[in-house]
Amino acid sequence: MALVQCPQCDKRISSLAKSCQYCHADLSGNTDSMRVINHIQQSTKLMNQSFLALTLFIAGVVIWFWGGEVATGMRAIIGAICFVVGFVGYLYTRVRIILHKRKSE
Ligand SMILES: [Zn+2]
Repeated sequence: MALVQCPQCDKRISSLAKSCQYCHADLSGNTDSMRVINHIQQSTKLMNQSFLALTLFIAGVVIWFWGGEVATGMRAIIGAICFVVGFVGYLYTRVRIILHKRKSE
């Protein structure tokens, strides 16, 4: 008995299992198409996340410089939080996308 990765949820399961014990995916048929679909879904999710992070980053910049003046007080704090979270989130998802692409090769 060997351990393999579930094509749907990526958890380690027995190669003899007819279905995944974690996500209950049917493994008796052709799992190649399931693997491809899962990969595309993951890519889409990561792309959405990086888009969201980028939006947050831009929102932070807009909040900071809204009306041509540099923000002060509460607005500056909110702007800075959006800016930092968006920036870090964007970098983080970019790295995950690169790792994800590398995995499929
Ligand atoms: Zn599974």
